[in-house]
Amino acid sequence: MNLSSPSDSIQFETRAIHVGQEPDAATGAVITPIYQTSTYAQSAVGEHRGYDYSRTDNPTRTALQECLASLESGRFGLAFASGMAAISTLLLFFKKGDHIVVADDVYGGTYRLFQRVFTEFGMEFTFVDMTNAAATRAAIRPNTRLLWLETPTNPLLKIIDIAEISALAHEKHILVGVDNTFATPYLQRPLELGADLVMHSTTKYLGGHSDVVGGAIVTSDAPLYERLKFLQNAAGAVPSPFDCWLVLRGLKTLALRMERHSENALRLAQWLERHPQVKRVIYPGLVSHPQHALARLQMVSPRGAPLYGGMISFIAQGGKSAAEKIACATKLFILAESLGGVESLIEVPAAMTHMSVANSPLAVDAGLVRLSAGVEHVYDLMADLDQALESV
Ligand SMILES: *Cc1c(COP(=O)(O)O)cnc(C)c1O
Repeated sequence: MNLSSPSDSIQFETRAIHVGQEPDAATGAVITPIYQTSTYAQSAVGEHRGYDYSRTDNPTRTALQECLASLESGRFGLAFASGMAAISTLLLFFKKGDHIVVADDVYGGTYRLFQRVFTEFGMEFTFVDMTNAAATRAAIRPNTRLLWLETPTNPLLKIIDIAEISALAHEKHILVGVDNTFATPYLQRPLELGADLVMHSTTKYLGGHSDVVGGAIVTSDAPLYERLKFLQNAAGAVPSPFDCWLVLRGLKTLALRMERHSENALRLAQWLERHPQVKRVIYPGLVSHPQHALARLQMVSPRGAPLYGGMISFIAQGGKSAAEKIACATKLFILAESLGGVESLIEVPAAMTHMSVANSPLAVDAGLVRLSAGVEHVYDLMADLDQALESV
């Protein structure tokens, strides 16, 4: 039974549990084993069963890669040691003199990697507001090779029209890459909308339990995949078998978790919008969100319902000092970087995750608070935020 092609008739929830995860051929183990081995016995010189060295290939990683490809409606998956390792490997696909147009408001680490590492190798980056198609088109140059975007963006949760950006890039034979970490394939499948590749920090929702750091790339473009597969082995930023196993375990409940993250976040966002200590709430599921109409069409679960994810940003009435007080006063919402785990987290981007863009055009409001809504009971989360907001 080959379940890994995107045309499979079985549904997302089923693919998350079964694709790439047949019972182990040697023992019948129902759960994919952690193949904790660096090398593999060969029956004759150069003759092996598809595995010769674990940087190149490992069966636990193969299972994860097949499952991820299926969930993203793609043909090929590649797993990496972190989200940044995935992006770094992708950038090795390009060369000196190549130009990349990047959505502003990208993950701080992505901005840092582009501006402070790859510019040193002669690559050029232009940051642009990709909610504006005309501005995006104007940023394209003859040497532009890639458009890189996240949607919803981090931390301002802007929604970028993946189909529109892909159409304008493809007119000029430019690749489109989407960092789909915030939405996950349960809410949004960029390859179906025209993107050429999807990237993930599997550290977040795909792993889902804040216990692993990992990354991935999925594509259906065979030549692009062949080169990235070569680079995965050549550069060697691969995940351990145990880390692959943790992400595989996380994927099995992705659908359930995303339903609850989204439900909790929507209720919290609506409640925060009425709270006197809150100046503005940013959540794509709110009618007040500037791209709510687009989010409704683009962020749709495999069951056909619009779902807006677990991330909420809000601006505190009292600015920077109020934001920092609130973030220190919550008890259930843990003050920490990262997102996408079952437990709720709170942070102040300007002072934490987005330090790397401070004093740049991408710097964020010091009064901005970012929440990662977990899957706890929503009443407990509201009560916790309420006491923290009241403490200011
Ligand atoms: C966390 C994150 C990354 C980086 O991933 P790591 O696993 O931390 O290396 C990239 N993009 C987004 C949107 C992220 O949230």
